[in-house]
Parts: sequence; structure tokens; C-alpha cells
Amino acid sequence: MIPYGKQDINQADIDAVVDVLTSERLTQGPVVPEFEKKTLTHCQSRFAIASNSATSALHIACLSLGITKGDIVWTSPISFVASANCALYCNADIDFVDIDPVTGNMSVSALALKLKKAKKNNALPSAIIPVHLAGQACDMEVIYLLAQEFGFKIIEDASHAIGGYYQDSPVGSCKFSDITVFSFHPVKIITSAEGGMALTNDKKLAKKMRSYRSHGIVNSEEDFKKETHGPWYYEQQSLGFNYRMTELQAALGVSQLNRLSTFVEKRHQLAQIYDQAFKAENLSSLHQSSDSVSSYHLYILLLPTSKSDLQRKLFEYLRAKEIFVQIHYIPIHLQPYYTKLGFNVGDFPNAEAYYKRAISLPLHPNLQPKEQTYIINNVIEFLYENT
Ligand SMILES: *Cc1c(COP(=O)(O)O)cnc(C)c1O
Repeated sequence: MIPYGKQDINQADIDAVVDVLTSERLTQGPVVPEFEKKTLTHCQSRFAIASNSATSALHIACLSLGITKGDIVWTSPISFVASANCALYCNADIDFVDIDPVTGNMSVSALALKLKKAKKNNALPSAIIPVHLAGQACDMEVIYLLAQEFGFKIIEDASHAIGGYYQDSPVGSCKFSDITVFSFHPVKIITSAEGGMALTNDKKLAKKMRSYRSHGIVNSEEDFKKETHGPWYYEQQSLGFNYRMTELQAALGVSQLNRLSTFVEKRHQLAQIYDQAFKAENLSSLHQSSDSVSSYHLYILLLPTSKSDLQRKLFEYLRAKEIFVQIHYIPIHLQPYYTKLGFNVGDFPNAEAYYKRAISLPLHPNLQPKEQTYIINNVIEFLYENT
């Protein structure tokens, strides 16, 4: 079986985790701060809060921005459900902005239009969560300018995109956002098994997120609301969670971060081989903007047509050949939970058309040349016979 994505674990990763396992602290030790610091060095931003998943990082990001009942949050319908769920955790209303069909990312022209309408209706969003699909950054500068004009906050869901660049900055610099979130799930670019991180340049947001990560508790005297009782004293000031990352996970993360650029380079080489092979057959994948260097979390092939069940047939054909393709993503607004909230088929036509054409081919640092040739030949053979 050839998986669509997979972690790459070496001896250094194993040694790093075992070292922590036999050390004093399995959680709340020095390794999580080390992982945070090392990620900041790569990203050139100021504060990082590691968490037990990107989902929890998105949740504390929303909380730190004050998202609550009565607020509206917009994200992309072509993402994992977590990008939208985080707003619902805060009792806010969620809505979506349709995608740009060539990049699969949130369309900035659709966003501008929707903002103008929302302003008229007095229903502007408090925050927007652009998602860097497959590792390619959204048009962040435009989104940032719209944020200045319409007064919303920006959380980048960069779960796919650590190791990528936008203009001259690494994704995670937060140059055009309030907060950026990474995922370290094993299928992503680097892994800590489960894990996520929220980055920001805003000290107040960082403090809030750090507190929400651990029960809403604050530990430093300068932040206390009441007189300290003594050296054991801490205060719970809000309703937080236990979203902490363990030392074991952070050790794996630190070790993996050493190979971030190697992983991304390898992904680029493999993507280029796919590109060349498919270009010769007039097949396209997601368009790469000149503003962005993707981390290539996914290689998404776009089928020539959304008709005649082509995608499902190809999916079944490849899976029968042990090629574990995947579809990223079922539009969030079509999930039963979301249709129950009032969303319908036809609400975001570009996202729905894209969904019927997209198929993610295996892409990970250990994909072997033989395997890739086998995948390419099978895709092309199928399309010859079925189009
Ligand atoms: C994977 C993913 C998440 C959730 O990440 P976890 O670390 O598994 O919680 C959120 N958003 C996107 C776009 C993702 O791909």
C-alpha cells in the first residue's frame, strides 16, 4: 500500500524521544519551550504556544481574540472541519468564502465582495481564517489590507504550510495576520505525533493563549488580580482547558524541525516529477502563485471534468492498485452538521465544483521513484481509458 502521506522517523527522532522518556519530566519541562523557540527562529515571529493539536491551537486563538456569541467568523469551505469548528466552540456564527478554483484557496475577490455586502447588512466578521491549502499561502497581503479596511482579525490556518514562504517571509511570520496555527499530525510536514502550535507577534494574545492552554491559569505575579498567598499561589482567571503538549511530543518536534527544509525540498522534487508527467497529458494540479513557495503538504491533481463519476472511478481504480489516494476536502458546508446549521448545496459553487475534480496523490519524503512511476502510469492509463 502506498499512503498519500506519511511521517519520516529517523534514529535521531527516536533518540530524542527516548532521552525525554528517561528524564525527570514527561510534561511541563524544558523541551516544549525549546520547540516553541526553535519554531520561532524559523518563522521569524515573537511568541509561540505549543498545544496538543492544531484544533486546540485554533480554539485558543479564537478565544484570545475574544471571539464569542454574536461574533461572526469566515473561513474556506475547502478545508478540514477544524478550521470552522473552532468558531463554533466559541459560540460564534460561522460562514464561508468561496474559493479561487485554480489555487483552491479562499478567493480574495469573493472575500472583498462578501465584505462589502456584510458591511451594508451590518454583519461584518470579527475574524477570518484563511487556510493555506496543500501548503500554498493565501493572498495574505490583500486579506491584510481588507482587514485594515473592514476591521477584522486574521488567523492563518497553516496546518499544511510550515516550511512554506509567502513573499519573502516564512509562513508563521504573522506579517499579515494576528495568529498563525501549525499542525504536527503525522501526515503533515513535520510531526510530533499529535500536536499544534499558535504563533503571534502580539504579547497580549500570547499571554492569553498560554493561559487558555492550561485551564485559564496564570502563574506570574505581575498578572495576578489578587494579593499572592505565597510562592505556591496561582490564579484561574478564565475558563481554559488542558491543551498542553507533552515533552515527548516536543522532543520529536524539535528533532523533526532539523529536517524541515530537507522534507520540503524532497516534496518539491516529487511534485515537479508529477507536474512534468501530467503536463504532457494536459492535466493540471493546483496553480502555484509566484508570491508563494508551497511546502507541498499535498499534491492535488485536478481532473479534466467533474462529470461522469470520473473522480470516484479513479479513486476506486487506484485504491484497488494499493495506491491510497485521498480527497481534500469534502466542502465543510456540506457536512451534515453544517447543513443542519442552514448551509445548502449550491452555497459555494466553486468549492463544490473543485471537490468533484480534486484527488490527492501520494506525496511524502519517502515516496520511492518506482512507486511514483507506478502511480503516474496508473493515473494516465485510467484517464486514457475513461476520457
Ligand atoms: C490537520 C488539519 C487541522 C487539524 O490539525 P490537528 O493537529 O489534527 O488538530 C486543521 N486544519 C487543517 C487545514 C488541517 O489540515
